[in-house]
Parts: sequence; C-alpha cells; structure tokens
Amino acid sequence: MALDSKIPSGSLAEKWTKHKSNINLVSPANKRLIDVIVVGTGLAGASASATLAELGYNVKTFCFQDSPRRAHSIAAQGGINAAKNYQGDGDSTYRLFYDTIKGGDYRSREANVYRLAEVSANIIDQCVAQGVPFARDYGGLLDNRSFGGVLVSRTFYAKGQTGQQLLLGAYSAMNRQIGRGKIKMYNRHEMMDIVVVDGKARGIIARNLVNGKLERHSAHAVVIASGGYGNVFFLSTNAMGSNVSAAWKIHKKGAYFANPCFTQIHPTCIPVSGDHQSKLTLMSESLRNDGRIWVPKKLEDVKAIREGQLKPTQIAEEDRDYYLERRYPAFGNLVPRDVASRAAKERCDAGFGVNKTGEAVYLDFAAAIVRYGKEQAHVKGLDENNEALVKKLGQEVIRAKYGNLFQMYEKIVDQNPYETPMMIYPAVHYTMGGVWVDYNLMTTIPGCYAIGEANFSDHGANRLGASALMQGLADGYFVLPYTIGDYLSNDIRTGAIDTNLPEFVEAEKAVNDQLEAFINNKGTNSVDYYHKKLGKIMWNKCGMSRNEKGLKEAIKEIKALREDFYKNVNVPGTTNEFNEQLAKATRVADFLELGELFAKDALERTESCGGHFREESQTPEGEALRDDAGFTFVSAWEYQGEPAKAKTP
Ligand SMILES: Cc1cc2nc3c(=O)[nH]c(=O)nc-3n(C[C@H](O)[C@H](O)[C@H](O)COP(=O)(O)OP(=O)(O)OC[C@H]3O[C@@H](n4cnc5c(N)ncnc54)[C@H](O)[C@@H]3O)c2cc1C
Repeated sequence: MALDSKIPSGSLAEKWTKHKSNINLVSPANKRLIDVIVVGTGLAGASASATLAELGYNVKTFCFQDSPRRAHSIAAQGGINAAKNYQGDGDSTYRLFYDTIKGGDYRSREANVYRLAEVSANIIDQCVAQGVPFARDYGGLLDNRSFGGVLVSRTFYAKGQTGQQLLLGAYSAMNRQIGRGKIKMYNRHEMMDIVVVDGKARGIIARNLVNGKLERHSAHAVVIASGGYGNVFFLSTNAMGSNVSAAWKIHKKGAYFANPCFTQIHPTCIPVSGDHQSKLTLMSESLRNDGRIWVPKKLEDVKAIREGQLKPTQIAEEDRDYYLERRYPAFGNLVPRDVASRAAKERCDAGFGVNKTGEAVYLDFAAAIVRYGKEQAHVKGLDENNEALVKKLGQEVIRAKYGNLFQMYEKIVDQNPYETPMMIYPAVHYTMGGVWVDYNLMTTIPGCYAIGEANFSDHGANRLGASALMQGLADGYFVLPYTIGDYLSNDIRTGAIDTNLPEFVEAEKAVNDQLEAFINNKGTNSVDYYHKKLGKIMWNKCGMSRNEKGLKEAIKEIKALREDFYKNVNVPGTTNEFNEQLAKATRVADFLELGELFAKDALERTESCGGHFREESQTPEGEALRDDAGFTFVSAWEYQGEPAKAKTP
C-alpha cells in the first residue's frame, strides 16, 4: 500500500489553520448519532474522550486499571513544554518547532511538529482553566524551568507531579461527561482485538478483567491511546501494566508500525540493583537544572568508593570529571537525553562507574545548595559566609523545587541526597516509535486513529523532555477532535453498528481460542520467566548501542524464545475469573513479536540517529553519525503473517 501522509499544502505556519477551515464538519445534531471508542485514559485518551463527548459524540472509553486516574501518565514528573515565552528569553512557536525537529535528529514529520508547537500554548490555558496547580513565581505568574536540549525555559510544572495534576484535570473533564451520560466508562476492561468491517474500524473485542467475560463493542471509529511499549525491555521506568497489545493488535489487522526501534533511554534513573527488580524509577530530568553530573577522574578513587573506603563528598573538586560540562559546554548538564545517556555509558564502560555493579554516575546538588543558600542569605540580609546557614537555606530552596523526588530517592536507595550525591544510570523510558498515522492521526486502517505515545508522529529519533505530555494533550484536546469529524462526516446515516456481524463473531472466537490455549498449555515456566529473558536480549542487543552482529543474534533469540513460550508457558487459573497471569500472558505474547520487529528495524537502519546508536555509524569522537542521504524516512512496517516477514512500502 502506498502511504499518504495527507499533509496539507501551504507554508508550515499556515497548514493547520487552513486544514481546519477546509475539512468536513459533523453538525451537532448528527454527532449524537455517532459512537466513538477510545482505548486508554492517559493524558491522550482522557483529553480526547472528554473533548469528543463535549462536542456531542457518544464515547465509550476503556482502560485496564480500576480507574482512569491510574493511567501511566500520572507518573510524569518534570513538566510540560509550551511556547509561551513567559520568561522573555527568546522562545517562540518556531523555536519550539526547531528544537523538537533538532532534538529528534531530523527524523520527525515537520508539519505535525509545527502544529504541535502552535497548539502548545492553548494547552496551558486549557489546563489552567481546569484548575491545574502549575507552579507560580513570586509575583504569582506561571513559572518555568528548562529541560534538556534547549536554551530557553519553557517547561510548566507542578512540583514533581505534573502528570498527576494534568491527569486530574483531564479526568475531571471526563467525569463531567460521564455524569452527563456522554462517556460510558469501562474500567478494568482490556481491548483484546479490533474489529474491521468492510475495511473500516467498527469496534473492539474487550475482556472484562474482573470476571473474564469477552464483550463486543461497536462504534463508527476507534481511537487507540494505549501508551508506549518500553516494557518490551522488562525493566523500564514505565508503569508495570504499560504494554504494546492494543497497538500490536491493530498492526496485525492492517495498521503500519513506524520506527519500532526508536527508543529513549533516560539518563537519570535509579540504577538497577539486582535480578529481583520488576521496574526502575526515574529521577526527573528537571533535576539536571541544578544537579551536576560527574564521576571521579582517578580509577583509584573509583575503586576506593566501590569498596566503601571513600565517600564522594571527600573527593576534591579538581579530581572530579564533570564530563557533560567538559564535552558539551553550551548545554552542559542539559544536553539531550540520548547524548547524556551515551556519555554516562561511555564513562562507566571505561571503568569509572561508582556503584558496586560499575553502572552509576553521580548527580550532585552541593553546588546548587550553596548557590541558592548564598542568594537567600543575601536577600534576607544574613551572613553569606556562615556555611551552616547557607547550606540550610539552600536545602530549603532545593526541597521546595524537588522535595518529592528527593524523598522518593531516599526511600528507594536509603541515602540522603541533600547530603551526598544521587547515583543515577540510564534506563528505558519512552518509545518514539509506534503506530504510523497521517496528519489527521488516522492509521492505515480507515476509521482507526492513534494518539499520544502510541503513535509515532512527533518526536523523530529522540523526544525532548516535557514534550510527551504536550503531545498527548495536543492530540486529545486540540487535534483529533477536529480531524476525526472529517472522517465521521461520511457516517451520519450509517446507524448503529451491529455487534452480531460475522467479523465480531470471528474476532471474539480468535481471542477466546488464544486465552483457552494459554490455560490448557500446562507448561513449566511462568510468564515473567519469558518476559525477563526477552528484556535481557533487548537490553544487551537492542539497547543503548546496537551493532549488526548483536541485532542478528537478537532476532534469532527472540524467535526461539517465542517458540519456547508457546510450548512451555504455564498460566494458572481459568479464563472466567480475575486472572492477572492470563492478562500478562497475552501482553508478553505481543512483546515477543514486537521485539523481533524492533530488532529487524534497528538492523536495517544502519545509520545512527537520536536514541538509535549503531556502533558502525559514529564520528571519531564517538557521537551518533546520521546518514541523511540514505535514511531521512520513516520505516513503516506492514504485517505479513509474522514479524520477520514485515515489509516497508
Ligand atoms: C516516570 C516517567 C516520568 C515521565 N515524566 C514526563 C514529564 O515530566 N514530561 C513529559 O512530557 N513526559 C513524561 N513522561 C512521558 C509521559 O508520561 C508519557 O509519554 C505519557 O504520559 C503517555 O500518555 P498516553 O496517554 O499516551 O498513555 P498512558 O498514560 O500510558 O495511558 C495508556 C492508557 O491506555 C490504557 N490501555 C493500554 N492498553 C490497553 C488495552 N489493551 N485495553 C484497554 N486499555 C488499555 C491504559 O489503561 C491507560 O489508560 C514520563 C514517563 C515516565 C515513565
């Protein structure tokens, strides 16, 4: 199939306005005749559901958690970008557009990114109107901070709980529509497959996770807002439940999957402590506004630290290597995430890692504490040379900015980060790849849309910090509600879709057969056994750096693991009950297919770009080397029966 991204004509700055004015509309009376299914209640799904219902459509929304409020978006800490230029530091729509394109290493779709930058300012107004308690400065105006890869302060935040506060705003908007009967909310329901009738998305098969029953739900359009697939690595900063299944199921029914290998590895996470762990914890990028990253310069100091004979605070300033400040003086500690991650790996691979496993670097707030403390002492007319006082005042400033993150670190690591540097190491965090969508956010299945982290559209090969929340809310509040009407305007006379159509019966039977097969398999290994093994292959061979040999091995190993999974997995219980292991088995089955396509995609993209680092393609200084002549395209994969056979148009 030839792909048509449907980018409107005209200059970048005109496209969206022109498009909105030209596309078809559905009248308020006709919207009442149209049903839309939304899968997901993170920032993308919740904002889309609330807005579509407000417009008058009948919305059915699904999430697998017990409440929409528990979607993974709630974990987002650091902030949300918007080109408001409140700081007067030179920000503009164009600059946010440019930073996003550059941050994505020139692999994003320009028209979408420009639109994203354009609507970013509306998001903040919308959320403030909902009552989201963004941080404010001394004068009461909205405050901003900086994130990596940019030279302005455009990140709006609510302490270290930005995602939570934004989701509460979107959830309140949803609740209003649930109260009006315009949204029917299906909590603890998992979409198991999409139903395609006459080539159009017309519904889903969902499983009630509480009693195990399969249900058929029909609609005139289906919106997938199911989040990212970082958990293909088993260990990631994502919520434990985050998965690829909804996206993968639509892929198998005709939706192209774009750039699956584009993964973001976040530089500031709490390091892995052993094999017992089931997830990793992010320390927000906002910490790099004030924290300085370093390792010791001398290997003997590293050895002494690892053996517990030396504390980091005892290492003299001249014996510390602030390697980001040394290598990238313009951005310093706020280089983009892929650059910071690879630089940490480089130092650790060279033997300078500071924890027992050798995979940790320091993030140190001592200098910021003194800087803020002196400023506070000056403001208050106190003694700037009183070290204890300065430290106390400085710590108060740091506590006000990042208190909950520091508390989280102390609870997990049992060290006080106000007194000693944090230890951090890169971890899987976000997936830029995802379902291919056109400018209208429609997938290659007519009537099926993908929004938020589930689609591939805006971040190219690397996402800038604080831009995921922006994209999810832009898609849900400001883009999809316009573009979906263009498609639905052809459905005003269609009437309700019958769930007794053969396509629904067949899809339900296929889901039921898969569930029964898992229960009847009676193998010997748990689902987690396979997920962990897959995660190790992914991290070692498709992780922070990749090479041809490793990727070829990964493809073979994942295939073999998948075969073993179907022969030997053990799923206890029955299909007709609350069965977490069964739900997990279906998700891991999909990860075992996605993992192979991921490795195949990484193998074929022989250039390095953004978060995709091919060892064969690097500069003499060890930086990513793009191949613009060969790879300035999106790899959009079409399913052909199995991941190995997927092809690009
Ligand atoms: C720890 C952490 C911190 C972050 N901090 C920031 C930050 O400060 N700023 C920023 O911009 N970004 C941040 N991000 C990234 C950002 O949080 C996510 O990209 C974003 O929240 C994804 O939103 P979403 O709506 O696309 O999906 P999600 O929030 O992941 O929601 C997915 C929804 O889909 C549902 N779902 C999934 N599959 C199914 C299925 N089969 N059936 C039914 N329902 C299903 C789930 O129940 C859920 O409701 C952070 C990410 C992490 C991991």
